[in-house]
Amino acid sequence: MRTFVIVGRPNVGKSTLFNRLCGKEIALTYREPGVTRDPLSVRVRFGGKPAVLIDTGGVAFSREEKERPLTDLTLATLRQASDLLLVLDGRSGLTPLDWEIAGVLRKLGKKVWVIANKIDQEELDSLAGELSELGLGEPIPISAAHNRGIRPLREKLTGEDPVPASPRV
Ligand code: GDP
Repeated sequence: MRTFVIVGRPNVGKSTLFNRLCGKEIALTYREPGVTRDPLSVRVRFGGKPAVLIDTGGVAFSREEKERPLTDLTLATLRQASDLLLVLDGRSGLTPLDWEIAGVLRKLGKKVWVIANKIDQEELDSLAGELSELGLGEPIPISAAHNRGIRPLREKLTGEDPVPASPRV
């Protein structure tokens, strides 16, 4: 069974996307970033097949150890994944924390789907340029809050690998 794990820096819209993908308001969403809670895990059906969807949520970041962007709990959760969903705020381009997280994800050697939330076309093009430097695939544009791009995203996640796979390390 595939396990999709949502990860990204605070406030990019992970919980909003999680709720959209599972079709229920399970994860609390906040205007203030950094609210700590356990990873949330639900069983979903994607493309007619059972799968697990996990939101790493507010547990993702190690405040004490600045050189390690992700906590041990988050890393353990990421290791369970078949597919990693890296959520970015498409309006801000890649921040240093996004680069750090993307670096950690690439080292895990799993499929990484890059999801650009809150974005318009011009921002999408410039983000695609930055992402190619990281060796990650094309960003998939969505608006989690406005429920735009969620169905095509779900189809991409369950389809025949329509987005170039990220290189394995
Ligand atoms: P998380 O910390 O990454 O889980 O982010 P949340 O899902 O809690 O969302 C953080 C904030 O971003 C909330 O106020 C959301 O309503 C808002 N948000 C989420 N998706 C979108 C979007 O597509 N567009 C805009 N403008 N805001 C969004």
